[in-house]
Amino acid sequence: MSGENQPVALVTGSGRGIGRAIAEVLARDGFFVVVNALRPEGAEETRRAIFARGGRAEVRLADVSDRAQRQALLSFIDETCGRLDLLVNNAGIAPAVRADLLAAGEESFDRLLSINLKGPYFLTQEVARRMIAWKAEGKTPRPRIAFISSISAYAVSTDRGDYCVSKAGLSMAAQLFAARLAEYDIPVIEIRPGVIQTDMTAGVKEKYDRLIAEGLLPTRRWGRPEDVARAVAAFARGDLDYSTGAAIDVSGGFNLRRL
Ligand code: NAD
Repeated sequence: MSGENQPVALVTGSGRGIGRAIAEVLARDGFFVVVNALRPEGAEETRRAIFARGGRAEVRLADVSDRAQRQALLSFIDETCGRLDLLVNNAGIAPAVRADLLAAGEESFDRLLSINLKGPYFLTQEVARRMIAWKAEGKTPRPRIAFISSISAYAVSTDRGDYCVSKAGLSMAAQLFAARLAEYDIPVIEIRPGVIQTDMTAGVKEKYDRLIAEGLLPTRRWGRPEDVARAVAAFARGDLDYSTGAAIDVSGGFNLRRL
């Protein structure tokens, strides 16, 4: 369990990839981390990695798109931590099959919107209510919320419109919560990873190897989960508090218009 004065972070989807890197860096920086994922194997591995470096963490499995499971996750935090200093909305999925905009079906759209947008939207609503109360009670002096969206919030990929729409929606969610929570001095940030080497992108590795070699990214290298984790760590430290509502690209310069 978290120590009395130890800040608590919830990182959704931290069983592997970007979420795991975020969980590890936050634990290193002194957070007690609630490791959330769908399946136990990866989540336990994240917890063990944190323990091995002297950090503290607990695993809570939950599907963020499921209201009852979100509530169970929050009940754990209410009962065992009694505070939440940082929420990182990281859990997200890519479409099972990339399908052309003129052919893609509703099933994939519903699934992506449910996990990538509805889940974090309502999880954040619940967390925000608690943060406001816990801040007023002095339990969480400086609560913060981060959304991990994507360059797909603004970059068009016509073979995965569902993913793009979910991330564009998440980008608006980050801005909405930033505006609503500013009066409570609760900073909210959106972080937009670019092409990051994880299991999610393993199936399209050759395509992106080629695109990167051809100059897709000015930096000419894949992003690493640690690149994203470093941006979250800066936010968690408070270095970006006055940038509430901002979207930060962690994309090796993908965002630059070049001529
Ligand atoms: P990943 O597939 O490697 O890991 C995703 C993690 O989320 C896993 O631990 C999985 O168990 C968990 N998860 C999936 N659905 C969940 C659900 N419904 N409830 C709770 N947990 C769930 O993915 P990643 O590459 O590490 O991506 C993490 C986030 O970053 C995602 O939101 C993704 O859209 C975003 N992102 C990734 C890239 C990239 O290139 N990898 C780029 C931009 C944005």
